[in-house]
Amino acid sequence: MSGEPYATLRCIACGRPWPLDAIRYTCDDCGDLLEVTHDVGRLQALRGPGAWRALFDTRLGTRDGPHASGVWRYHELILPDLPADEIVTFPEGNTNLYRVPTLEREAGSTDVRVKHEGENPTLSFKDRGMTAGVSWARHLGARVVACASTGDTSAALAAYAARVPGMKGLVVLPRGKVTAEQLSQPLAAGCLTLSLPTDFDGCLRILREVCRRRPLYLLNSVNPLRIEGQKAIAFEIVQQLGWRPPDWIVVPVGNAGNISAIGKGLFELADLGIIDRVPRLLGVQTEAAAPLARACREGYGARVRVTAGETAATAIRIGDPVSYDRAVKVVRASGGFFESAGEREILDAKALVDSSGVYICPNSATAVAGFLKARAAGRIAAAEQVVVVATAHGCKFSRTTIEYHTGRPEGDGPRRANRIVEIDADPGAIERLIDGA
Ligand SMILES: *Cc1c(COP(=O)(O)O)cnc(C)c1O
Ligand SMILES: [Zn+2]
Repeated sequence: MSGEPYATLRCIACGRPWPLDAIRYTCDDCGDLLEVTHDVGRLQALRGPGAWRALFDTRLGTRDGPHASGVWRYHELILPDLPADEIVTFPEGNTNLYRVPTLEREAGSTDVRVKHEGENPTLSFKDRGMTAGVSWARHLGARVVACASTGDTSAALAAYAARVPGMKGLVVLPRGKVTAEQLSQPLAAGCLTLSLPTDFDGCLRILREVCRRRPLYLLNSVNPLRIEGQKAIAFEIVQQLGWRPPDWIVVPVGNAGNISAIGKGLFELADLGIIDRVPRLLGVQTEAAAPLARACREGYGARVRVTAGETAATAIRIGDPVSYDRAVKVVRASGGFFESAGEREILDAKALVDSSGVYICPNSATAVAGFLKARAAGRIAAAEQVVVVATAHGCKFSRTTIEYHTGRPEGDGPRRANRIVEIDADPGAIERLIDGA
């Protein structure tokens, strides 16, 4: 696409437009966050709803090039002004949408699916935002890309930066708060990996200050480009369902960028006539860090900020979400709500889904637990079709899984533990066990 830009940045508070092709994270006038806005009129003039659907369906058969990606299949709706040959892609996306019978039975629901974003190249949905963010960073000529992270953004940033000759990655991690698997990822990818004695909120505060004084391109979710890539989760869900939107999409919420992205994507699809209605959004937080769930219960009065407590759901251990306002806006506009889940509910929900062979992380399980609570309370009906977004793979959080099944989680003990059987190194011992002796 050429000529006038299709997309610009716009302040989410005062609405002032800013050019997309200059580095800027907040509005110079009022200091609020920026978002990418698309020229819907021109996109409508380009193609009608049926033609857009047909184009995306045709690209599903593509094996090579950027359109093989589950993000760049929707190139015109993500970053239309980015030339296709500048895209940095593995490819990513194209994750499966699984039926989970154990979850349907437990919920008493007729149709519940898990969109497994743990099937991305670095095992979390963060790859979708990072392919957009790093592509745009390269387009702008950035040499160093940086983020603070609860473990998955850093893995994605490190991997994408490693694909660009001459680009360097820098990640800032809260010491002792990311899993060993997550810590191994930026190390493996040759990224400058910093460990700070503070939590995620502290890491982000410090890095934002450095970014004001040094030429680093910041790829946390204050960067609106990442949101554009993450919209593709919603695009894939509705395309996988034959362009018929589900009744609910359930998302675990930390910094609230992902639920904002999914909501933004859905409303844009509706504006283009590609879907005929927007699913309701349920955002779920861990009770250890649930400012949005509390705000929802209290009728969305003043902005709620909390200090995050300990939780197995470390990727959503965020007390002061950056995308708070965006998330409240899309969730309310969709007719949805926020919920929270406790540690025991989260770990039991994880074991429930894991036992179907679909292996998810504790953050994903928070969404599952929130869905089960909403079903039990009758806020989601049995016949409604539900898609739960699993945000990362269980293999990134092996310690949580092993501690659960060996009976050492926090709280009252596991409901679905699958014990390790320690046995002598002897065929007879195994045979006696099988025979039930
Ligand atoms: C980042 C992350 C989340 C939270 O997404 P936000 O956009 O911060 O709300 C949830 N789960 C996993 C596994 C993540 O990595
Ligand atoms: Zn502004």
